[in-house]
Amino acid sequence: MPQAASPASPALPVIAIHGGAGTLTRSHISPEQERAYHAALQAVLRAGQDVLAQGGSALEAVCVAVQALEDCPLFNAGHGAVFTAEATHELDAAVMDGSNLAAGAVAGVTRVRNPVLAARAVLQDGQHVLMIGAGAERLAQSAGLAMVAPDYFSTEARLVQLRAAQAKSSGAVLDHDGAAALAVSAQEGPLHEGRKMGTVGAVALDAHGHLAAATSTGGLTNKRPGRVGDSPLIGAGTYADDRTAAVSCTGHGESFIRVAAAHDVCARMAHGGATLHEASEAVVHQALAAIGGTGGLIAVDRLGQVCLPFNTEGMYRGLARVGQAPESFIYR
Ligand code: ASP
Repeated sequence: MPQAASPASPALPVIAIHGGAGTLTRSHISPEQERAYHAALQAVLRAGQDVLAQGGSALEAVCVAVQALEDCPLFNAGHGAVFTAEATHELDAAVMDGSNLAAGAVAGVTRVRNPVLAARAVLQDGQHVLMIGAGAERLAQSAGLAMVAPDYFSTEARLVQLRAAQAKSSGAVLDHDGAAALAVSAQEGPLHEGRKMGTVGAVALDAHGHLAAATSTGGLTNKRPGRVGDSPLIGAGTYADDRTAAVSCTGHGESFIRVAAAHDVCARMAHGGATLHEASEAVVHQALAAIGGTGGLIAVDRLGQVCLPFNTEGMYRGLARVGQAPESFIYR
């Protein structure tokens, strides 16, 4: 069952995170590996929780959490991002502030160490919402962000995954049907690395009643160079509005774009009177499912309700309310 945690108090600050959705390798992993994923998720949650406990903004909390997920080698955004069909990396990220609907996003960046911070720099600059490629990188550099050589993002495991996808291959879309199409490595985490979506994201409610969302990804393995997924598209993979919810998605990006998934959660609440839970479940299990879209999302509303639905076998995810122990989950 997806989690639908009730708020302990109407305005208790809370952060929720995800590290991608996908197919399980439950029978192949050791308890130690599983514990390592939970420890990583909980460390990220605590970092975000600390920001909120000190009265920091939801925007700050989601950026801190996503930056930590980008830097953590267990999750495949930032360092460890997937390869394009030409064995390069093109990273996408977005942030949105629900208090004023300010948003910033970057797509197709190759040299910014933390794409989520580049997205935040676009938001703070204020002139544009979505910037791509070299122009986005120049803005990030002039904002003082760390730049890296493109091979900073590369890992051997991701290259093996690209070659496997190309050998198999019919395209960029990962196989999420649970069939044993790719050999399962004993080194994998709880979700099959060849059939897991690599996005990370965070949503938060702060002590001032404001919501924010952030998402960052390397996209899909073997994607065409120039392809942009849902993650940096405001309304598709990322959305936040204090009046309704903050949402960050992970999954087959083309499907999330077609149903405007993140905004659809908010629209169902604003115009249809749905609760956070009803809206989130409907988007994942009805709107996305109707077009064969696989993945999940994390969402928080202004009452501190949290919903973490997905239609894959697993999704790395967790939540932490200020003053309470972080909780992390991988399987259904
Ligand atoms: N949604 C991302 C994309 O399509 C992939 C993911 O969630 O891992 O780019």
